[in-house]
Amino acid sequence: MFKAPRGTADILPGEQAYWQYIEDKAVSVCQLYGYQRIDTPAFEDAGLFTRSVGEGTDIVNKEMYIFKDRSDNELALRPEGTASVCRAYLEHGMDNLPQPMKLYYFADIFRYERPQAGRYRQHHQFGCEAIGEASPMLDAEVIQMALGFFRSLGLTQFTLQLNSIGCKQCRPDYLQKLKDYYAPLTPSLCDDCRARLAKNPLRLLDCKKPGCQAAAEGAPRNSEYLCKDCHDHFDALKTYLEALEIEYGINHRLVRGLDYYTKTVFEIQPLEGGSQSALGGGGRYDDLISELGGKSTPAIGFATGMERIVLNLKNQGIEAPEQVKPAVFIACMGNSAKIVALKTASDLREAGISVIVAAGDRSLKAQLRQANSVGATYAVIIGDDEIKEGMVTLRNMLTSDQQVVDPEELKRILGPQE
Ligand code: AMP
Repeated sequence: MFKAPRGTADILPGEQAYWQYIEDKAVSVCQLYGYQRIDTPAFEDAGLFTRSVGEGTDIVNKEMYIFKDRSDNELALRPEGTASVCRAYLEHGMDNLPQPMKLYYFADIFRYERPQAGRYRQHHQFGCEAIGEASPMLDAEVIQMALGFFRSLGLTQFTLQLNSIGCKQCRPDYLQKLKDYYAPLTPSLCDDCRARLAKNPLRLLDCKKPGCQAAAEGAPRNSEYLCKDCHDHFDALKTYLEALEIEYGINHRLVRGLDYYTKTVFEIQPLEGGSQSALGGGGRYDDLISELGGKSTPAIGFATGMERIVLNLKNQGIEAPEQVKPAVFIACMGNSAKIVALKTASDLREAGISVIVAAGDRSLKAQLRQANSVGATYAVIIGDDEIKEGMVTLRNMLTSDQQVVDPEELKRILGPQE
């Protein structure tokens, strides 16, 4: 027997109400803020991600599903959504449209991680990107939208963490400060961090190994080494958030696991669950579009994991609204009845009424039990007597009341009431 690959999960019918609920709320919030949907391929040229996410990141070095196709193209299953959206933005000349271009997506994301609760090798993200505007107003709006989305789902137990990781101008100086700070501490660092120290010292701040976490405690703070532009941007963002009454905490060790971020980074953390259980996160990536070959174009985005949201909804005791149940179940006994059942079902469906037809030769009792279990409001019963009379029996499954009706009348009785 085959099983789903490690780190993947089937999303069974019983879970779908949550997913539908989350998607509906996501679409509503995107409409409120003027975002348009985009879908991009599940795989891209591997170089797109190496270039944008960064060579020194875990995502690229350890987690990317990278493969050659039969024509020797080096491809990767997308390990995140932003790079693909930026690639599409450039490929389709969206830079010529009014800016910022506001786009949202639902995407399956692939990362070869160690599976655990809320951490999969294939997970699903809802994300949004606002490309073509540098103002911190947009940072505040994206953050407000992300929080508004979680609240619209009924979630309340989370905090917003904020940091600024500077830009091309001020970062080199800060990175040197980090290297100087960490140099005498190398014996306490993990092997990965020792290797990262030369190439990508920012990554040391969010290493989850205890030795590295302890070392990061006293590390210099990025927000204290920002250039004037980054400093003013961060200050303005804080002012906007305060004006919007959005509570935040500054987390000096928040750097996010992708290299393309500049200035603002943020994460939404559930109150319980630790630093590896983020509900969502995002930030500015003002250099990414130009690194991918476009002109200098500031941008900011946000993404959240659908599986994490389901987990948090369940933890907070929030139930998704029930999915629509079929209106009618048609039970039939005997061969002639089967034909009438199929025709009646077609008629009703054409009138927009949802129908399940019993198939097979089970007893009426068994068929009505099934009508109950699928949650149908009505059962239409067709047996020999009904065939003889040219009528059908209509049973209200809640009250068990039954009436014999002309099949032509069913649409009127069951259809939308004016
Ligand atoms: P990231 O692209 O790493 O910032 O991830 C964005 C969001 O996706 C995170 O905040 C999580 O909610 C979710 N996420 C990231 N990695 C995983 C994973 N391996 N399994 C499930 N959800 C994930």
